[in-house]
Amino acid sequence: PKEKINILLLENISDAAVAEFKEAGYANTRKITGALSEADLIKEVKDVHLLGIRSKTQVTSAVLAAAKKLQGIGCFCIGTNQVDLKSATEHGVAVFNAPYSNTRSVAELVIGLSIMLIRRIPDKNIAAHQGTWMKEATGSYELRGKTLGIVGYGNIGSQVSVLAEALGMNVLYYDVETKLPMGNAVQIRTLKDLFKQSDIISLHVPSNKSTVDMINKETLKHAKKGAIFLNYARGEVVVLEDLKEALEKGQLSGAAIDVFPVEPEKNGAAFSTPLQKIPNVILTPHIGGSTEEAQHNIGLDVSSKMLNYLEKGASFGSHTVPALSVPAIENTHRILHIHRNVPGVLSEINSTLSNKNINILGQYLKTNEQIGYVVLDVDSKLSQEAFALLKEVNHTIKTRMLY
Ligand code: NAD
Repeated sequence: PKEKINILLLENISDAAVAEFKEAGYANTRKITGALSEADLIKEVKDVHLLGIRSKTQVTSAVLAAAKKLQGIGCFCIGTNQVDLKSATEHGVAVFNAPYSNTRSVAELVIGLSIMLIRRIPDKNIAAHQGTWMKEATGSYELRGKTLGIVGYGNIGSQVSVLAEALGMNVLYYDVETKLPMGNAVQIRTLKDLFKQSDIISLHVPSNKSTVDMINKETLKHAKKGAIFLNYARGEVVVLEDLKEALEKGQLSGAAIDVFPVEPEKNGAAFSTPLQKIPNVILTPHIGGSTEEAQHNIGLDVSSKMLNYLEKGASFGSHTVPALSVPAIENTHRILHIHRNVPGVLSEINSTLSNKNINILGQYLKTNEQIGYVVLDVDSKLSQEAFALLKEVNHTIKTRMLY
């Protein structure tokens, strides 16, 4: 019954998401503008089935322990660091986010910045603001016919590739995996060769062991003289002192940087980086993906994942409950069973039901190191009995029935 479901949305989550929950018939959807402290959240979350947050709300193990009815958490943002994922897994709470909803925003900005830098707009802009007329063509170029080197050809890198080709650029890319090229783009085997051939280099890799400090003195020395460099990926990937040196020596003629190894936590906070006051360098405060459209898309993406989990048990995209795609429920009742991942649970489930002659009409299982997730479709006339039996299975964490 939808009126028994409580949905709590914090941190001014996009109206698109609120509308999705209301349209789906969940009248008890409550919206709070700000984030809540741990103590306040513990009080508020007691009867909540679905919790929506953005990046400021910390969902700690104490919050999760207090949230006895909680089925899912939606992080209406890109990351999930604010949630204690280990504890959420132990409590059988699914955690969703929207990792790719802002990728177009990043790709567009990278193209815009490339034009700004290759025309040396930053310096001319500053001069004009300071009252100096700086009309010149020297050192200003078109993008058309230039070579863009993309490092990391994933969701963002491949979109940048398409936009760049539309402007008449040649596109090369380097990726640790073999990736299908978009348009006429060409995959290059080594980072060094990519640097040697590119007029503009743009990073689109994740932060991981293989990418930390990946761009340093050694890589930068292979750049074409006067190349342009952009990092709208992750701050840890670039050694800033080495980038500074390459800019000051003229090895690079410009850069745009959005992400830094250490970023201020609060808006309005002081910020410093070795790249300040270098000509033709654009610095932005990690806003590569920050647009109204991205917020809207995040709202739709996360709310649909949460509703699919609530209504069908589909955990696709979950970081905690194992991710499972399941078919629609047809003429049966569906029971969701989350248990500790130890040997014997599945056979206990099956024997408990078969001992009572309850036939399983559909069964889907996925496990991770900590927990197992089984979705069982059973005859609607026997579902209450099956549900009661499954609650008693050893190592059960959570059970839920869908009609
Ligand atoms: P993605 O996972 O879709 O793509 C990443 C690509 O990098 C993959 O193709 C992967 O194979 C490749 N890769 C991994 N390790 C590599 C290595 N050592 N060398 C070369 N390639 C490697 O990610 P995405 O959605 O395209 O995002 C790319 C980056 O952009 C991420 O770091 C993400 O955090 C960042 N991002 C930043 C903003 C912002 O506001 N600036 C917004 C969104 C995403």
